[in-house]
Amino acid sequence: MNMDAFYKIPCGMYIVSTAHGGKLNGQVVNAIVQVTATPPKIAVSLNKQNLTCQLCARSGVFTVSVLDQDAPMTFLGRFGFKSGRDLDKFEGVNHRLGRNGAPIVLDHALAFFEAEVTSTLDLDTHLLLIGKVTEAEVLSDVEPMSYAFYRDIKKGLTSKLAATYQAKEGAAGRKPGAAGDGGGRVEVPPLVAPARYRCNACGYIYDPAVGIPDAGIKPGTPFEALPGDWRCPVCGARKDRFTALPT
Ligand code: FE
Repeated sequence: MNMDAFYKIPCGMYIVSTAHGGKLNGQVVNAIVQVTATPPKIAVSLNKQNLTCQLCARSGVFTVSVLDQDAPMTFLGRFGFKSGRDLDKFEGVNHRLGRNGAPIVLDHALAFFEAEVTSTLDLDTHLLLIGKVTEAEVLSDVEPMSYAFYRDIKKGLTSKLAATYQAKEGAAGRKPGAAGDGGGRVEVPPLVAPARYRCNACGYIYDPAVGIPDAGIKPGTPFEALPGDWRCPVCGARKDRFTALPT
């Protein structure tokens, strides 16, 4: 079976949010589709391990924000690779509560839906939630971000808990100097820029030429010079989860 065929199914990038017992939570989802017209209903697939799924199953309501192409990786990482059990995902994020009581993410959103769960289907690893849409609005006419844009242009990876995850994603790339890389001769040519490093968990690329000025890491700082407890700014992965990219 050619798993690449699944990449040919067009889908978008969304944040599904809900609230239960005073806890707001949301996550990035790409498996969303409109399934009926009258009344309008949408289907959302959420991994049972995700807090959003567990809250949604209890609250019976959710919202969907359709993301634009300008959504930065740090924003996507906050909702896609971090857990609401560890942080308040909505802190510092522009949002408001919908009529159904679930939060609506407004940052980088070009449209949103509010929905009430009318049925669920147990898919073993995931729950498929069918929601009757109770409210919908267009916020801007900019281009939505497709899942292909996220993968191909933004070089983003997919959470292992996502409905569209493929195990081969984590195997991409190998470290220079590894077996088969040139006979083990260690020589660093002069005037070669320090290597960029890619996070194996989320796809974030640390570029030493750029650094992370917002975090006090100046341009020109090699990856090797980052502190040992440095974490991926997108998903929080440890430094040893990064792989050097070929120069
Ligand atoms: Fe990461």
